Amino acid sequence: MNKIGISTGIFYKFYEEEEINRSISHISRWNVEIVEILLSRLFMLDIPVSEENKEFLSSKEVIIHSPFFVNEGYNLCKLGREEIKKLVKLAKQLNAKYIIVHPDLVEDLSILDETDFPFALENIKPEFSEIFCLENLKNTFENHKNLKLALDPGHAKNLTIEQMKEISDDLGNLSELHAELDDVNAFLKNGEETHSYFRTFNVPIVFEKFNDLRKVHLVIKKTKEILHQE
Ligand SMILES: [Zn+2]
Repeated sequence: MNKIGISTGIFYKFYEEEEINRSISHISRWNVEIVEILLSRLFMLDIPVSEENKEFLSSKEVIIHSPFFVNEGYNLCKLGREEIKKLVKLAKQLNAKYIIVHPDLVEDLSILDETDFPFALENIKPEFSEIFCLENLKNTFENHKNLKLALDPGHAKNLTIEQMKEISDDLGNLSELHAELDDVNAFLKNGEETHSYFRTFNVPIVFEKFNDLRKVHLVIKKTKEILHQE
């Protein structure tokens, strides 16, 4: 069965200082195999992960999601060599599997090729980046052969599930699927669209948003049921 993960981003409000250590320890309540550490702002690269959390994370698969905002307001950041170096240092320290970046926020993707650490690119909404939207990523991956794809279907709503599947099969480097639940109650019922994403893509699923955190355990249970029904 595919692994299930939760992002620390589910706790963030994006307008206050996100507490990374508190968020990591919250996730330890739930029965998931993957923990995504979302560093939404640049300063979070400098916050040390507590010893207690390191201990917890050592039993999990860790994925690092790189920052997208500078420290104040909603200005998007550009990751240069120095930030990428810090990300790799943190990822190695936590024995992470790979680092996810938004490709439009990296100064130059060849910086990623220079490191000895695996990276995955997340597809960007076509209205934000034509180059890095799912349907146009082929060219990028041809030029950067070691990079993987982190598929966010919510960023490719112009495509059908079948089209997304066809593109990702063609790219052949899909590493995970993102899931954002704006309506947990709908998800918990049958026949919801998100279920077909889970059944279509045979990769780990990382939840990045829940509109009701009290029902996370039910979502995990339901997801396990869905993945068993093949
Ligand atoms: Zn992302």
